[in-house]
Amino acid sequence: MPHAVLPGSTIGILGGGQLGRMMAIAAKRMGYRVAVLDPTPDCPAAQVADDHVAAAYDDHVAAVLLAQQSDVVTIEFENIPAATLEAIEPMVPVRPASRVVRVAQHRLREKSFLAGHGFPVPAFCPVTSLEALQAASREIGCPAVLKTATGGYDGKGQQRIESPQDAVGAWKAVGEREAILEEFVPLEKELSVIVVRGPGGHTVCYPPSENTHSRHILDTAVMPAMVPPDLARHAQKLAAGIATALDVVGLLAVEMFLARDGGLLVNELAPRPHNSGHQTFDAAVTSQFEQAIRAVCGLPLGSTALHRPAAIANLLGDLWECGEPDWAAVLALPDVKLHLYGKAEARPGRKMGHLCATADTPQEALQRVLTARSLL
Ligand code: ADP
Repeated sequence: MPHAVLPGSTIGILGGGQLGRMMAIAAKRMGYRVAVLDPTPDCPAAQVADDHVAAAYDDHVAAVLLAQQSDVVTIEFENIPAATLEAIEPMVPVRPASRVVRVAQHRLREKSFLAGHGFPVPAFCPVTSLEALQAASREIGCPAVLKTATGGYDGKGQQRIESPQDAVGAWKAVGEREAILEEFVPLEKELSVIVVRGPGGHTVCYPPSENTHSRHILDTAVMPAMVPPDLARHAQKLAAGIATALDVVGLLAVEMFLARDGGLLVNELAPRPHNSGHQTFDAAVTSQFEQAIRAVCGLPLGSTALHRPAAIANLLGDLWECGEPDWAAVLALPDVKLHLYGKAEARPGRKMGHLCATADTPQEALQRVLTARSLL
């Protein structure tokens, strides 16, 4: 296959958290070498990689060092500064490209891109001042959600606005910085679709995942989502259309709201492996992590079929409050798998690992993983 980055080559990963770690595991299994750039010594991905460049993400000299030893460079999270990717793009294929990351790391650019291409999104307004926020809350109506344009994740940088009088407090609370105001959508469910797209433009999609959040952090994800087949197909078509419009190479996770009125709206894009796709590690013919490697290396994409329905439940640092959880108790359950990310310090709200359960139906898988987690 021309231009494919073949096993034995080195894959550079910007970001060394759990997503990088699971990509590195998939890459190592296929015979690649892996180099990681991340500021933290002994970060989750560095424990698996062949090389670790320990440096800040805006350190272009370090990024060049990574690029020099890599045959292709990818990312594990979209808040890597786009300028870092631009600095190495002349040296090595960077997938996804800085252009994609620039859109995905800025909510206003992201929502404008989606709306501009005709994809359905909640009503939104750009906000750059208190006056603009007050005008936006009149235009959008209440309740609404104020979100910072950059740097938000797991609900950080978000404020709900119940009435126009909340504007002053909310503007202060988000640090008086560039933001968007979004209509608050009454939700039936939250879904996500992970699309894989190769350099030639071929796409494959996983079945939609159905997700729940607790304290704005993903709590459980079930694949396939418990929705009618035509809705699942519609969600996949939407996600594949966005990946094509954005010209992503690699993975694109498309987070969606299923509104109570039955409409499907796009919430967020993540051009990387996604927490709601961890089920694929244990339950799919090809995991999202292996697909990321195949796609960025220009190799044929694998099957996205599931062997069985599966559900994951995240393990946050809070679980460690009374000491090490009872891993043997969950491992005694035959259809439950334990994934821990090798993080030294268990802080409240920090994603430390997840459990995955498979079953004959998505409902049973969800029940099984929740039962397992309750044993910890
Ligand atoms: P983050 O990037 O911090 O994860 P999101 O924009 O995905 O932020 O929001 C986190 C969660 O907050 C969503 O998964 C959803 O549960 C809720 N949420 C965010 N925006 C809206 C909205 N416009 N309407 C209803 N719920 C929302």
